[in-house]
Amino acid sequence: MSRYIGSVCKQCRTEREKLFLKGDRCSTNCTLERKRGKNAPGQHGAKKSKISEYGKHLREKQKARRVFGLTEQQFKRYFAVADKLPGMTGDNLLKLLELRLDNVVFKMGLAHSRKMARQMVMHGNVTVNGKKVDVPRYQVAIGEVISVREKYKSNSNLKKLMESAVSVPSWLSFSKDTVSGTIVSEPLREEFSHPINGQLIVELYSK
Ligand code: SF4
Repeated sequence: MSRYIGSVCKQCRTEREKLFLKGDRCSTNCTLERKRGKNAPGQHGAKKSKISEYGKHLREKQKARRVFGLTEQQFKRYFAVADKLPGMTGDNLLKLLELRLDNVVFKMGLAHSRKMARQMVMHGNVTVNGKKVDVPRYQVAIGEVISVREKYKSNSNLKKLMESAVSVPSWLSFSKDTVSGTIVSEPLREEFSHPINGQLIVELYSK
């Protein structure tokens, strides 16, 4: 399954907004804040063409997909699951994405970015309820305890991260002392990772 390997910032330029794909670096040295970076990539990137209704729906889906680093097929699978759950499909979709293990690790401040969080998980450095889980798409359930393996606690990157302030959403509790956190409730719409309009994505897939 192919994964995007091009320039990360290009994805923000295409969406013409900051998607914070590089973690901390996005606050201090963002391409989008430079003159040329404001344009969409490509020869005609500076042109401001009117976006169609379909385009609006498509852009919202692409934004969500890029924020969570998913391929089209993976995203479609999430949508199919969300569609079968009770409640609003758009909210269900974003809740499922928030509860991916790599996203939870990122939200707990254990990694600079989702990409780094995914690597941490894939390298077997993350545990759920004390057991190693190396699948980034693992859906974390309420009450489960997420932590890092004992030997990873001395990792220099992690130590640096733990020295800075960690602010977690209200659906997550986190202790720096034990380097572990728990899901305390379902993710709230007001605290979703990025302002994404789930309804536009639903309408796109219903066309
Ligand atoms: Fe996007 Fe971050 Fe690059 Fe800015 S620095 S364009 S927010 S990935």
